[in-house]
Amino acid sequence: MNSITHSAEPQSQILLNDQKYVWHPYSSLSNPIPAYEVVSAEGVKLRLADGTELIDGMSSWWCTIHGYNHPVLNDAAVQQIGKVSHVMFGGITHAPAVNLCEKLVAITPAGLDKVFLADSGSVAVEVAIKMVFQYWISKGQPEKNKLLSLRNGYHGDTFAAMSVCDPVTGMHHLFEQVVEKHYFAPAPQTGFDQPWDEQDIAEFSQMISDHSHRLAAVILEPVVQGAGGMRFYSPYYLKRVRELCDKHNVLLIADEIATGFGRTGKLFACEWADISPDVLCLGKAITGGYMTLAATLCTDKVSRGICEGEAGCFMHGPTFMGNPLACSVANASIDLLLSADWQSNIQRIESTLKQQLVQFSQLKSVASTRALGAIGVIEMHDPVNMAEIQKQFVEAGVWVRPFGKLVYVMPPFISSDENLIQLMAAIFSVLEP
Ligand SMILES: *Cc1c(COP(=O)(O)O)cnc(C)c1O
Repeated sequence: MNSITHSAEPQSQILLNDQKYVWHPYSSLSNPIPAYEVVSAEGVKLRLADGTELIDGMSSWWCTIHGYNHPVLNDAAVQQIGKVSHVMFGGITHAPAVNLCEKLVAITPAGLDKVFLADSGSVAVEVAIKMVFQYWISKGQPEKNKLLSLRNGYHGDTFAAMSVCDPVTGMHHLFEQVVEKHYFAPAPQTGFDQPWDEQDIAEFSQMISDHSHRLAAVILEPVVQGAGGMRFYSPYYLKRVRELCDKHNVLLIADEIATGFGRTGKLFACEWADISPDVLCLGKAITGGYMTLAATLCTDKVSRGICEGEAGCFMHGPTFMGNPLACSVANASIDLLLSADWQSNIQRIESTLKQQLVQFSQLKSVASTRALGAIGVIEMHDPVNMAEIQKQFVEAGVWVRPFGKLVYVMPPFISSDENLIQLMAAIFSVLEP
């Protein structure tokens, strides 16, 4: 038997047809790895077709911060369905979108005053990149059409987003002929809590100085590099990037698609460095994981620059822009987050994760562990066999999906200490020799 086909035996017609017809993220249809069928979910638990219940350690890829099947979010969706589920956004507006944009401007770092609603994180990044390019075209400097990004970054899977992902772990090699070439500075080395060393930004500083006449913007994930390595870096780095962008007349795009809405312990990770970017991308947790929605915010300077240029408007407009259903749930999710003492709650999760991570340092297979906010990371010495380890996690009653050498959790914010202890104990039982 192939080593990866036994991770879950397809039994039901759903699973058989899944393998026959359905692409999953980064999946092969020639050699499919069986998926797990979820039939319902509630709170921090996913229920599988065979009745197994799993504690969710992933928040469905950073999204379901309030857990599954939340009565407040359900109600927001139901109320809005009874009014209007979707209407075109060209020439039409509605309260759910307007209220959401007002709310986003109010809670994000100062100066981000205009909102473009997009359909998914990658699209929000595409929009951000188009904004900065169009800004410089409008300003009569079309040669400023390159981006400076960081190694170990992740910004999405569409082409412009892919072009600023880590050039090694991203898909640059495969798509070499079709992916735009940009500049990459080394990933920050100073850890989140480590004393700042100016040397850490030296190469970035040199690059932005050398190429400023070609650079439209710097794009980075503030403080936490997510899917490109789950790395936490010093807020001083971010502070220096902001200063260097100002000095060299380069815009700054902060991609907070993963970090936004409290995940790192601040509402937005830019707050750790007390900076505002020129353009901000949001997604993932924006609807509490109910449906796809994203937003790209920018300053008045950027919006005016774009709109006062030759085109006279920003050249973008997705069909499902401002979907009322998604906006209503987003409003409810943000209100729900802000209505409680979410900061103490994230601190509680961080300290429980830190306590629980201690036991892992004794394992020979573990290289290091770290936690920040509601993110816990166990970095192994060697890449894990995902299909195999996933099966063991399910058998241990948890949903955790590692990548490469990284076994990590980003649990829903409603996770109790008991849930977290169970989650980490299950992971320990699997990693233990
Ligand atoms: C997930 C992610 C994206 C892409 O979002 P999608 O909704 O998957 O398109 C972009 N940037 C960051 C930092 C992300 O974590």
